[in-house]
Amino acid sequence: MKPLPFLLATLMAVTVLAEDVTPGGSIFGQRQFIEYVKGDLPLVIAVPHGGRLQPGDIPDRATGVRDIDANTQELARTIAEVIHEGTRGQAHLVICHLHRSKLDVNRELAEAAQGNALVEQAWREHHEFIEQACATAVKQHGVAFLIDLHGHGHADPRVELGYLHNALALADCDEALNEATYVHASSLRWIVEHSPLSHVELLRGPRSFGAMLEANGFPATPSPRMPVPTEPFFRGGYTVQRHCVASRNITGLQIEANRPRLRDTAENRLKFARALLPTLQTYFTAHLGFGIDGRKPAATVGPMANSQPEGTVPVPAQ
Ligand SMILES: [Zn+2]
Repeated sequence: MKPLPFLLATLMAVTVLAEDVTPGGSIFGQRQFIEYVKGDLPLVIAVPHGGRLQPGDIPDRATGVRDIDANTQELARTIAEVIHEGTRGQAHLVICHLHRSKLDVNRELAEAAQGNALVEQAWREHHEFIEQACATAVKQHGVAFLIDLHGHGHADPRVELGYLHNALALADCDEALNEATYVHASSLRWIVEHSPLSHVELLRGPRSFGAMLEANGFPATPSPRMPVPTEPFFRGGYTVQRHCVASRNITGLQIEANRPRLRDTAENRLKFARALLPTLQTYFTAHLGFGIDGRKPAATVGPMANSQPEGTVPVPAQ
């Protein structure tokens, strides 16, 4: 283990650098285990399980899931590139480069790092970068939207949307899902508190994320087509639970991407990114009050963005 002064110096260096880096630039934690690509959009994408580093001096985790979510790091970078092309803005990215056999940042510390001090520090850096990214987004836009990006290997090739409700909970009736118990446990709590739509409508109605993603060509659940996910289904984990806190103006979800036709090839990752951009644009406009570029109104994504000078977009009455 490194001496304490070294660790403190490293943490201080991270803090100083984060303030100096411009959007699109990367900040790294110790030994480059965690990367934060600084952004300026209201969107934060975290990639917990796409890392490939397996340093020999760090023992494998003895228990827990140790498989990589293949190509999710590449998927996140492609998404950020497509969003940058469409908006000129930069999504915040937080990427864990350590392989999941060494660290699982989507777990509580004990299971995540299993007592290794170096790994514990990387875990803290990962979550501190997410906090920093979300705080920046909140400061600039009023609200942060966090996507914790994963890949699943379930038989049904659909995108699983984790709002912290499992399949059993989603099988509950609409009235129950609209009650405070479910709303308070939901990663969408902030939106529920600021939207005329109900929790159930946001989970699986025609203006839900699932509906919008399906309209852009990617099967998803929960959605109007599949309001109750077939099992197995991932509900969302530690990261979304810890960071999507309504009182801090942070909302979002866990996205579990299927592999075939989505993240298996560079071409398919690009197709998904090009479907996700209009999905986020429609979703942000409907539920956050601004487009993915953070501007009101939100009709400037895509080719039109280049033909419209800044500041000339008419602002609709509130
Ligand atoms: Zn995962």
